[in-house]
Amino acid sequence: MRVPMDLNKIEQGVRLILEGIDEDLDREGLVDTPCRTAKSIAELCRGMDPASARSISTFHAEGHDDLVIVKDISFASICEHHLLPYVGRCDVVYLPADSRIAGLSAIVETVETMAARLTTQERLTTEIADRLMQEIQAKGVMVVMEAEHMCLAIRGVRKRDSRIVTSAMRGYLRRLPTRTEALALIGRSTSVR
Ligand code: ZN
Repeated sequence: MRVPMDLNKIEQGVRLILEGIDEDLDREGLVDTPCRTAKSIAELCRGMDPASARSISTFHAEGHDDLVIVKDISFASICEHHLLPYVGRCDVVYLPADSRIAGLSAIVETVETMAARLTTQERLTTEIADRLMQEIQAKGVMVVMEAEHMCLAIRGVRKRDSRIVTSAMRGYLRRLPTRTEALALIGRSTSVR
């Protein structure tokens, strides 16, 4: 069983960082910073708690066996290599099986919650696709994520405008005609692999 998040430990860590960069921990602006930062880190990592992941309910929509698209789901995650945020948008496409449709808000919530952890964008994309496949029991799923990484934008190579695009296809969405249709519907060229 996972140990619940230890806010005191995070706070101690923030204090060490402030000391490490030679800040004055007692100056007015920083008095509450360790506590405030610990709370904000806990919020940004709220998806660490397995209890936060709710299951996706599905319902029967007779005759609906065509692609369903949820576009532009905004998300924020933390790059596990630099502990800096990356933020962007996620498109989800799925092909229902037996007219079984998923609640839209549950899909949005799944993306937002699964992103709220330390991740790499590649792995996150894959994990969301696998989870949706499992929960919706769809014939196929496509997840495309596009994000701006602070570790690229404000440090290192400082590529302010570059975006990372990742995709994961499962089931029927791996097949060329379905994939092409899905990519056209989310407004992407078929060059996304
Ligand atoms: Zn990074």
